[in-house]
Amino acid sequence: MREALRGLTGTYDSAYWQKVDHERGYPVAFVDALTTAGWMAALIPEQYGGSGLGLAEASVIMEEINRSGGNAGSCHGQMYNMGTLLRHGSEAQKQLYLPKIATGELRLQSMAVTEPTTGTDTTKIKTVAVKKGDKYVVSGQKVWISRIQHSDLMILLARTTPLAEVKKKSEGMSIFLVDLHQAMREGTTKPGMTVRPIANMVNHETNEVFFDELEIPAENLIGEEGRGFKYILDGLNAERTLIAAECIGDGWWFVEHARDYANDRVVFDRPIGRNQGVQFPIAESYIELEAANLMRWKACELFDAQQPCGSESNMAKYLAAKASFEAANVCMQTHGGFGFAAEYDVERKFRETRLYQVAPISTNLILSYIAEHVLGLPRSF
Ligand SMILES: Cc1cc2nc3c(=O)[nH]c(=O)nc-3n(C[C@H](O)[C@H](O)[C@H](O)COP(=O)(O)OP(=O)(O)OC[C@H]3O[C@@H](n4cnc5c(N)ncnc54)[C@H](O)[C@@H]3O)c2cc1C
Repeated sequence: MREALRGLTGTYDSAYWQKVDHERGYPVAFVDALTTAGWMAALIPEQYGGSGLGLAEASVIMEEINRSGGNAGSCHGQMYNMGTLLRHGSEAQKQLYLPKIATGELRLQSMAVTEPTTGTDTTKIKTVAVKKGDKYVVSGQKVWISRIQHSDLMILLARTTPLAEVKKKSEGMSIFLVDLHQAMREGTTKPGMTVRPIANMVNHETNEVFFDELEIPAENLIGEEGRGFKYILDGLNAERTLIAAECIGDGWWFVEHARDYANDRVVFDRPIGRNQGVQFPIAESYIELEAANLMRWKACELFDAQQPCGSESNMAKYLAAKASFEAANVCMQTHGGFGFAAEYDVERKFRETRLYQVAPISTNLILSYIAEHVLGLPRSF
């Protein structure tokens, strides 16, 4: 797999990614090539046109993209968002959508959970979906919703029963499959959904989204009404483990580039890498990455054996995101002033890997998960 992936990623060199980053563009050619070669359909079972691989193999795909100098954040949603549909959708929904997602004819790259006023406190979301006949009518707002402009479908989490009327705050939310082209009623003046891009630190297409009585056909509800929050949580272990693998890929990239530069750059008549002050941080980054990688494989192994892996996938994401950013910082320092020059890619990869300590889950929330669910400390919120 790695050999085949390197054959593909190797054709998208640093000049390609620099151009995409500089133009704040989307890596269309790269994502098309990845899709055509079938890599994005790794987790879709064969009966629906995918390759039915495990999480371990899928994680290698993400790792190799980032290790090659690319950015899997542009397309990782296409690999794992469909998991919610696969696990909780009806057979009719799966037959209708999964084969087209597998070929790339339909892109399900977006998932809308986060809201501006509630943030991580997801059960307080204010976006509501009210059932009216054979439709749900959605009103509210989301923020940081990625890849909408490169997606055909989006998974939306909305409240279907008011918070005050449910026994547990995690109940009463539902998930829907939104046809983005219909929702934006492209070409009309009163769309049910409007999208406003957010300029941000990374070349990551992400948006504010406003719902103004958006009508969604009732058959687009996934699973049972009221159980959407649980369905979203069910998908998080795969998402976290795949993103851990992206961070591992970034981390190897930083360590290799720091090592090569330290070997080549001569100052005071010797390679800078001969100084322990330069070597040791690179060695430390390597050790931390190797350790994070073990946790990534452990999470994959448990997930693929259908064993509980909430704590391992969270710990893998925590360790890998931390290790990759520390490696990024070391790589930047090793390159001195040249680390800041776009042509070396270090500053771009530095920005890209920083995201993963915040999204899709911030470090503090992982720590609170481990504190409460693994160590038995009191719930803090
Ligand atoms: C580039 C980008 C892309 C994104 N893409 C998507 C997407 O496609 N879909 C989507 O739904 N969301 C997306 N997000 C949102 C992302 O998941 C959230 O930003 C993230 O979960 C943190 O939520 P918040 O920004 O609201 O921070 P807040 O919840 O406001 O938290 C701010 C800080 O306070 C800390 N904090 C909050 N509460 C506690 C507590 N009880 N204890 C300790 N610390 C606490 C947090 O850890 C964080 O560091 C994206 C974000 C970014 C930046």
